[in-house]
Formats: sequence, structure tokens, C-alpha cells
Amino acid sequence: MGFRRLLFGRGGYWGAERTPAPRSHIFPISRAIFTAMKILIVEDEKELRKTLAHSLQKEQFVVETADDYAGASDKIAVYDYDCILLDIMLPDGSGLALLKELKDSGKSGNVIIISAKNSLDDKLSGLDLGADDYLTKPFHIAELNARIKAVLRRKILDGKSTLTVGNLSLLINERKLRVNEKEVPLNRKEFDVLNYFLFNKDRLVTKTALAEHVWGDNIDQSSNFDFIYYQIKNLRKKLESAGADVEIEAVYGVGYRLKET
Ligand code: CA
Repeated sequence: MGFRRLLFGRGGYWGAERTPAPRSHIFPISRAIFTAMKILIVEDEKELRKTLAHSLQKEQFVVETADDYAGASDKIAVYDYDCILLDIMLPDGSGLALLKELKDSGKSGNVIIISAKNSLDDKLSGLDLGADDYLTKPFHIAELNARIKAVLRRKILDGKSTLTVGNLSLLINERKLRVNEKEVPLNRKEFDVLNYFLFNKDRLVTKTALAEHVWGDNIDQSSNFDFIYYQIKNLRKKLESAGADVEIEAVYGVGYRLKET
């Protein structure tokens, strides 16, 4: 990694260069798969907070921020987040106390501690309290991205390699779909499309996000929208005739949403 990529040291230099996050060794996963995942950044350093928010928004996350303990506590009480980036030294309290509050409330949000303190004690207390990971400042944005995605992937799959929704089982590694234990043959694109929908169950999936995920970043998206339409049409037919408990509904002019029926 070059010096230009170092983000949060040396006066907070933010290089234009971005290191792509490493691809998963479990299965290939596009950044678009995390569309609409909600992240809360709890950080009192203004510049760092803004930089983090900006770079995570570019990664398609929905980002909210809090600059102190009280603000974060209010947000955590009301909203659910997929991942919380938590600074420990806050002006009005400790991030560790906030973590305890979160875990005591039984919320399922994943937590990555980001702290300037590089003490083993802090790290152990954090992990002991249920944090999922720990990153010491300064860190590379690519490293943070990789950690966030690893945490979210674990959350989604819950350590398994099968995604289950209703009577559907999607075997990620074998790239197979089973409905009521019976295999339903899918072509490669249909599998990718369904995989993406199941990851984003009940979320609005835009045609653009879908095109980017299934057909890659470099496609001419407008010419592929027709193609998406036919892939989804075929997929719907297969799901329907297999008696699957899901429905892919069109959201007019925008995209689609997969729902359990
Ligand atoms: Ca701080």
C-alpha cells in the first residue's frame, strides 16, 4: 500500500486514489449487494466523521452520523442500524458504555470499534461487550470497507452458506436453488439476480443497482434494462411453477422488490 493511500494520519490526508476492497474468499460479492445497508458513524472528530460518511456513501451505504454519546444513544434507541462504527473517546461519555447500552437493549446491529487508543484492554473490553471488530486509527479506508463488508456478510449469512427465505434455500457455494427441497434449475444470471434479491429481501432494488451487481460496473446500463426485464420474467415463472414463497414485485419506474408471500 502506497503512502498516498494512507487516510487518517499525517493531518488526515485523503487521497483521490481508492483501493478496491478485497473480494470475498467465500463467494464473489459486489459492493452493490450492500445497497441500502444502514451505517451509523459515532465519531466526534468532525473531519474524520465527514470523510468516513462521504466515502461510505460512495460505497452505496445509507449513512447517518452522531458526534457525541447523547446523540448516538438517541439514534440507537429509535433506529436500527446494520453496522455501527463506534469511537471510544467521546466528549460526553465512553463508546464502550454505548456498546453496552446497545447490547443490553437486545439490538442486533453489528459494531466495529474505531479508536485512537491502541490499548489491549480497550480492545478486549470492546470485544467482550460484543463488538464485532476493532480498528485502530489511523486506518486505510479500504481496510475499513473490507471489515464492514466482512461483518455484514457474516450477519447476512449468519455463518452459513445457505440463504433461506420461506421454502426457498439458495446454496451459495454450489450455486443451486431448492424450493421445498427440490432443485430448481437456474441459469447463471438468474441465480445472480435471485441471490441479490434474497440478500435485499423487502428492500427496493433499483434497476441500476441490479445491473451493476449482476452485469458489472462497466456495462451500458440502459441497453441492459430490457435484458434484466426478461431475466426477471423468466425467474418469476420458474419461482411460480416451483411454488416458491416469494414474489418479485415491480416498483414502477424504479426497480423491484422481493417479498415473502
Ligand atoms: Ca474521539
